[in-house]
Amino acid sequence: MSANAFDVKRIRADFPILHRRVHDKPLVYLDNAATTQKPRQVIDALVNYYSRYNANIHRGIHALAEEATAAYEAVREHTARFLHAPSSRSIVFTRNTTESINLFASAWGRAHLKSGDQILLSEMEHHSNLVPWQLLAKATGATLAFIKMADEGLLKLEELDRLLTPRTKLVAVTQMSNVLGTINPVQEMTRRAHERGALVLIDAAQSVPHLPVDVQQIGCDALAFSSHKMLGPTGVGVLYAREALLESMEPFLGGGEMITDVQLTSSTWNEIPWKFEAGTPNIADVIAFGEALTYLERIGMSAIQAHERELTTYAIQRLREVTGLTIYGPTRAAVERGGAVAFNLEGLHPHDVGTVLDAEGVAVRAGHHCAKPLMRRLGVVATVRASVYLYNTREEIDRLVEAIHAVQAFFSKPTHAKV
Ligand code: PLP
Repeated sequence: MSANAFDVKRIRADFPILHRRVHDKPLVYLDNAATTQKPRQVIDALVNYYSRYNANIHRGIHALAEEATAAYEAVREHTARFLHAPSSRSIVFTRNTTESINLFASAWGRAHLKSGDQILLSEMEHHSNLVPWQLLAKATGATLAFIKMADEGLLKLEELDRLLTPRTKLVAVTQMSNVLGTINPVQEMTRRAHERGALVLIDAAQSVPHLPVDVQQIGCDALAFSSHKMLGPTGVGVLYAREALLESMEPFLGGGEMITDVQLTSSTWNEIPWKFEAGTPNIADVIAFGEALTYLERIGMSAIQAHERELTTYAIQRLREVTGLTIYGPTRAAVERGGAVAFNLEGLHPHDVGTVLDAEGVAVRAGHHCAKPLMRRLGVVATVRASVYLYNTREEIDRLVEAIHAVQAFFSKPTHAKV
């Protein structure tokens, strides 16, 4: 990759927030797995929409409504291209990954699952890809089974064939762990699941923002992710699902927009994907999400992945030099992984570590990362997590490591009690 192709300095210039100070120190933002910062192009798109063509969509006959509808629907087309989906009819806008998975669980699951059926998940799922299936299992009498994880943070794929039974109707798995950074081989998993007649839903909240994702290549039946984790605004999620599957599903929410006709006691449904978008959607944020897609495409998803790979390798190397620091997740150079790095410092609570890092201007996440079963599997209550994105630099990793040393120095003072 040439220096010109990936110019971090130039990228950083597009993100106003990266130039602010926190506790009188330059901000080092390493909480990208939670949400990412927004470039000025995305912020400008919001301002532009509200200043120039704010209107409700699909139903208006005036110029503003037509402009807003065209811009909103253009982002649906754009999202389909971004994912290499065969058609924009497969793209449903939701509020976030969580809502996308709930939509699928509810609209597909209630129509197609019965008592005794099985949903196969993994031990490393975010609560968003766990709780909706628990609710569905409770409502239908289906059961949940889990692909276990080896200590290095990789799924035990050899178990997949044993766990896939004729009762398995769906495999729902994350493409990239938000805690461990593990990238799961979802294409191979999908192939094996399909061989056994199960559908596959991918939680792509951490993968679509960070690496090229081609839904046709993966072959999955459904895939969910959030705009806010990929430079876009909060309040926009995407559910991709095969057209035939969307056709076979009942609506998720009822109301305006999702109908063709309404009688007093019954209704008929709009075509897909609008059948799943009841009420006024998040027009402004969807339009601005389109700018985020344009931004990422201009840099190139492969280039972004390569940049993050290099930074993550450097971060792991530097963190391993710190005495008393344990990293959770794959650390071998041979294992391709994403840029979320979870760790703990011996004798210190992750919240205390996070608080002192914040005082040093370094924003990380500390907690269970909405993955409590995974925390239990790792034998911890919580971890610190640093996660990188396209605008992070090696110097920022150095700042993180310096700040970790400051944490250790702070808590080694006799006056500051350790946990
Ligand atoms: N799945 C994974 C792997 C995540 O990392 C997250 C968010 O952290 C989610 C699902 C939920 O995303 P959202 O809160 O945008 O619905």
